[in-house]
Amino acid sequence: MNKLIKYAILLLFVMASGCRKDSVTNNSSSTSVIPNDFLSNSNYDKLIVEIQYLNGFAPTAAAISNLNTFLQMRLNKTTGISIVQKAISSPVKSVYTLAEIQAIENVNRTQKTSGKTLTAYFFFAEGDYAANSGSSKVLGVAYGSSSMVIFEKTIRDFSGGVTQPPLSTLESTVIHHEFGHILGLVDNGTPMQVAHLDTSHGKHCDDQNCLMYYAAETSDIVANIVGGNIPALNTKCLDDLKGNGGK
Ligand SMILES: [Zn+2]
Ligand SMILES: [Zn+2]
Repeated sequence: MNKLIKYAILLLFVMASGCRKDSVTNNSSSTSVIPNDFLSNSNYDKLIVEIQYLNGFAPTAAAISNLNTFLQMRLNKTTGISIVQKAISSPVKSVYTLAEIQAIENVNRTQKTSGKTLTAYFFFAEGDYAANSGSSKVLGVAYGSSSMVIFEKTIRDFSGGVTQPPLSTLESTVIHHEFGHILGLVDNGTPMQVAHLDTSHGKHCDDQNCLMYYAAETSDIVANIVGGNIPALNTKCLDDLKGNGGK
């Protein structure tokens, strides 16, 4: 294949994946990237993950440490992976729409992808997701090619009690799950090596013990977290990541 055709195919893919994942208008705050950019070392050899939160709603230190371990184990980044955190000021809201979350990112995100450095962004919200309906609450959303929101207040509502998982365990479950979508799971920019898509629940794994099972980003997961263990990726998801440049 000549270089021009390769470039055209890549460009089409980037555009298609941008349209599919972003339900709100993207602006110039983030470069559109693809899962292979995170997994392989070819286009970017360094990753900076930026975490922003309102005072009092930072993730636990254990969750940050777990995220670092999770990324180090899966991504090829020879110049390293770092996580930077910052409290931001923003009006407190009881519920957030996706458009409001992206507006917060547009104003506050400081780490931008350029050169050989790739960046990712998390906002930890001190309210619930506006699109919640019924008793099942959304705990996190991956809404752009490198952007995620974690509903920290909702996570706290469903953790830490006698019959609930520890806070850091539930945080890590949701943080890892959303990053899994950014890494292209399941069939979300990273091709499946064998079929394991849960066709009735979008871009999720059909194994209820896998991190990428659909319930892992909602309050429904709480009953499934046994003994404080963070769900891991199953072999099929791991094979997909390896097949797309990961480790
Ligand atoms: Zn999901
Ligand atoms: Zn899986």
